[in-house]
Amino acid sequence: MIKIFIDPGHGGSDLGAVGNGLREKDVTLNISKRIRKYVNDHFEGHSIRMSRSDDQTVSLSQRTTLANNWGADVFVSVHVNAGGGTGYEDFIHRSLSNTSSTAKLRDIIHAEIVKQVDWRNRGKKKANFAVLRTSKMSAMLTENGFIDTKADADKLKSSAFLNRIAKGHGEGIAKAFNLKRKSSGSNADSSNPSGSTSNSGSNENSTIKWLGTDQKGRRVESIYRGSDGLNYYDSPRWSNPSGIFNYGQGWIIDNKYVVDGYPMYRVQNSRKQLFWITASSKYVRVI
Ligand SMILES: [Zn+2]
Repeated sequence: MIKIFIDPGHGGSDLGAVGNGLREKDVTLNISKRIRKYVNDHFEGHSIRMSRSDDQTVSLSQRTTLANNWGADVFVSVHVNAGGGTGYEDFIHRSLSNTSSTAKLRDIIHAEIVKQVDWRNRGKKKANFAVLRTSKMSAMLTENGFIDTKADADKLKSSAFLNRIAKGHGEGIAKAFNLKRKSSGSNADSSNPSGSTSNSGSNENSTIKWLGTDQKGRRVESIYRGSDGLNYYDSPRWSNPSGIFNYGQGWIIDNKYVVDGYPMYRVQNSRKQLFWITASSKYVRVI
């Protein structure tokens, strides 16, 4: 289960930027709800939480604490720019290299958003924003147009355009985590711009997507207390386990993947053999 944390910027007593009859806190909440709906309508194998779902004041540290405590896999903070420019840009923390797993995740989401919005692409940027610095998972912050530029604000007043912003975020997140696209249903999107990733979930059709990790070389150990132990596998799969870990047993992280929509670590034992285990924070911890 991929855990997606959406953070609508500002809220309550913090209006964010204002201009052209818009308040940033309202636009960010509007976009965030549309992202949640888009992903829930089109994909499965994930769970979404938001730092707020109405007009309430939430501090910056509360936002990342919520995401950290939940064990989110990704944190996406949604904002609207101000200061007299135009277009779209996004940020990751300034300490991250361009080859970090967060940068790669941002590359994917950025590409999907700029596909949807006919805005000037202001680029992929880095900054020392608090929500990027204090979140433990991959985190990015999107700046969706300029509220004080009339042409941008006019688009932010259009429900159809907000849907495109949301679709870009949603498709990007789904692509980054290889979420399974819902194969049927009235909400299915026939345009399917990034190609169908649906599969039956059987072994022959299993999907393996490289995620990468900043945790290579660290120890991951089982925090599962069940007497049946925590399964590990000698290939990326979720059936026919090769053995079990008891509580507290662990190996060294080599890499991270999404297998059939769920995160897995590839780990190395003391004899340099590679195995696969869940990367869910419900079952394992990295120390
Ligand atoms: Zn903002």
